[in-house]
Amino acid sequence: MIIKLYGTRGSIAVANKETKKYGGNTTCLYVESNSGDVIVVDAGTGIRLLGVHLIQEKKSKINMLFTHYHWDHIQGFPFFTPIFLPSSVVDIYGSSKMTDPKKALSYQMTRPYFPAILSELPSKITFKTLKNKLTIGDIDIQTIINNHPDQALGLKFTEGKNSFAFLTDNELFDKNGNTPYEKFVDFIKGVNFFIHDAQYKDDIYKKRLGWGHSTYSQAMKLAEDAGVRNVMFTHHDHGSTDKCIDGIVKGYRGKYPKYNIQAAADGKTIILK
Ligand SMILES: [Zn+2]
Ligand SMILES: [Zn+2]
Repeated sequence: MIIKLYGTRGSIAVANKETKKYGGNTTCLYVESNSGDVIVVDAGTGIRLLGVHLIQEKKSKINMLFTHYHWDHIQGFPFFTPIFLPSSVVDIYGSSKMTDPKKALSYQMTRPYFPAILSELPSKITFKTLKNKLTIGDIDIQTIINNHPDQALGLKFTEGKNSFAFLTDNELFDKNGNTPYEKFVDFIKGVNFFIHDAQYKDDIYKKRLGWGHSTYSQAMKLAEDAGVRNVMFTHHDHGSTDKCIDGIVKGYRGKYPKYNIQAAADGKTIILK
């Protein structure tokens, strides 16, 4: 299984020299099975480059999964070139418990917001419901409901003996949330690694309770409680510079020497064999 991060920024894209290392594109994750099946998770601004890659690789059968439909997870969709090609077959999966994905994506592709209308695109797009489990090729996908305004889905991908979890836009310790913390611990137990929302530092989080995001230290607690040693922070705050993220990662590496701690960066690739 190949995993490539195309967008790791939260809330809004940023573009300046202080954020070059980790990147400024909003959420988009690419997963490819060992037999070449294509899975795209979310359509933040990072999806534009992924579209270029898929066309170069002649990948025309595309499965898309949406964690939820906040702007930073859908705003790249109108710039995902494969949807403008008649040869593309795109299956789009979203939870039926949240807004219907067709409705959510159609809203931003209507005039006066965008000149190309979703229902008039030349590619073959099919909308499907993402339930608790889904299998694409040899990859099994399980979901969990995150604690996030308007809900979001956490995802776990398993192919053979390899697995990883992607939990973005999730407030682990939200007292009014849908899912108690212990369920997230159970969800990620046994994975090779997990990527988790770590938008805030502890002091900022106190002013952001109920906003649907977690802290670096909460993501580390999850790693400890689930016994997973490989941790990656994502959904970087738009105000977090490379220097700031470097300092935070260094601090947690010092505090947790037995853990492999990284910050997600646009363009980063992980191969699970
Ligand atoms: Zn987000
Ligand atoms: Zn969100």
